[in-house]
Amino acid sequence: MSGTFADTHIHLEQYAPEEAERMLRQFRDAGGAYVVAVSMNLESARRTERLAELYPGLVRPAYGFHPEQPLPTPEEEEALFAWMERRTLPGEAAGASGALHAGSAHGEGSDAGRGKAGGARRGPAPAACGAAGGGGGLEAASASAGAAGGDSPRGLAAPPRMAAVGEVGLPYYSRQEAAERGEALDEAGYVRLLERFAAFAARHDLPIVLHAVYEDADTACDLLERFGVRRAHFHWFKGSADTVRRMIANGYFISFTPDILYEEEIRQLALRYPDSLVMSETDGPWPFEGPFAGRATHPSMTADVCREWASLRGLDEDEARKKMLANAERFYG
Ligand SMILES: [Zn+2]
Repeated sequence: MSGTFADTHIHLEQYAPEEAERMLRQFRDAGGAYVVAVSMNLESARRTERLAELYPGLVRPAYGFHPEQPLPTPEEEEALFAWMERRTLPGEAAGASGALHAGSAHGEGSDAGRGKAGGARRGPAPAACGAAGGGGGLEAASASAGAAGGDSPRGLAAPPRMAAVGEVGLPYYSRQEAAERGEALDEAGYVRLLERFAAFAARHDLPIVLHAVYEDADTACDLLERFGVRRAHFHWFKGSADTVRRMIANGYFISFTPDILYEEEIRQLALRYPDSLVMSETDGPWPFEGPFAGRATHPSMTADVCREWASLRGLDEDEARKKMLANAERFYG
């Protein structure tokens, strides 16, 4: 792994393929190490997986069901869990299927062969892709990205292993909106689904990426404690002092978005939360305000997050990047 900062939470599949490709190249050239790409549902997870195959090492895929949307039908839920279950296996190296980085393919014999066949099917000139080193990989990949369509058959080769369960959680903002309409949101289904994701993460010893803010963070803590989940990342966290204390005691991670530059609540949190439990993210393509107003959210904005966190904590910028990346590696590595 090269690079000095990471975007530990981005909805990469929500960008147009050519935009994702351009952003990833700029991110890497600016010193970005990798992004953790989260998913909204099964369709979104399939697109995320394709990006992880196209940009091995640079895109680490997480699969789940975002809570700020109507619950899946029982059939959709079963299909998602069955699909995810297959991604918990050791799998072939993501590099083998796209052959973007010649050095990263370490599949053995027949597996590597099948992976190559997959690369040939999805994109032109796999031999040229294989010959291109790390630098040419992104360019070679873009042709494949444009051609990527629906769910691709994989033959017998195991898919790349998932990096984390996510994005999952509780529907805080949907509940607020329902209340504004004078309606009540039935939360039982969301809690039950989150329990199932927590059990899945615990069973497979996977990190879990949570959308759970304010009082929902306490519900999530109850649940994680019950299922013995220790590797929890509360992305873009906001919550009470009591919840913060509890999360720190449990060793849960949080991440800061670019709003650390202008949201006082987040800046205060950055002063309190231990420097061993924090990471940088963008939640892109979610747009930001302040100095980022009117700009498309880009994973390189995590460099701004590191810089601002460094200044809040009185750290040297390089030291801050090192700390945040080391935290991400400890959590997602
Ligand atoms: Zn998100």
